[in-house]
Amino acid sequence: MTENRLPEPAHTVYLGLGTNLGDRAANLAEAVARLGEHLAVKQESPIYETEPWGITDQPAFLNQCICGETMLTPHRLLRIMKGIEAEMGRQTIVRYGPRLIDLDILLYDKLHYSSYSLTIPHPRMIDRIFVLAPLADIAGDVVHPGLGCTIRELLGRVDHSVIRRL
Ligand code: ADP
Ligand code: MG
Repeated sequence: MTENRLPEPAHTVYLGLGTNLGDRAANLAEAVARLGEHLAVKQESPIYETEPWGITDQPAFLNQCICGETMLTPHRLLRIMKGIEAEMGRQTIVRYGPRLIDLDILLYDKLHYSSYSLTIPHPRMIDRIFVLAPLADIAGDVVHPGLGCTIRELLGRVDHSVIRRL
């Protein structure tokens, strides 16, 4: 730390994890452990199982959210998450198709940001029960920047029939 510079506060991030191939619970645990090498994991949500969405002829997904604190910029964090996805052997580029691990940045402080490769808050999280259910367990009172309503309120607006808490 250089003199005359106050330490900057860490950024609070909420990340979404999803998997529907192999030992799904082990995939989540491994991803959390690997993420923990790059940020301080503060909270882990319960795990939820969801029937596949989009392409329905594939195994059910397990989803989880975590809260972390980090000094990484959003793009640096995304690059690390993509590296973990690649190392863990994400085998397909089919959107909404089967995958060993999918890692998304859901929220980053109160940031509202969009570029070609990164949009925060994650643009599709507001329709996705498999994101909102675990996220509400650890961030129910957090306000979605841009929409101005809480995660719990967003959760109340989506269909719950396809999900169950493990
Ligand atoms: P999804 O995560 O919506 O199921 P994909 O994982 O297939 O879809 O999409 C991955 C791409 O989405 C990545 O290449 C990444 O550049 C882009 N992307 C945009 N915003 C985000 C975000 N907030 N978190 C993760 N990836 C994002
Ligand atoms: Mg993704």
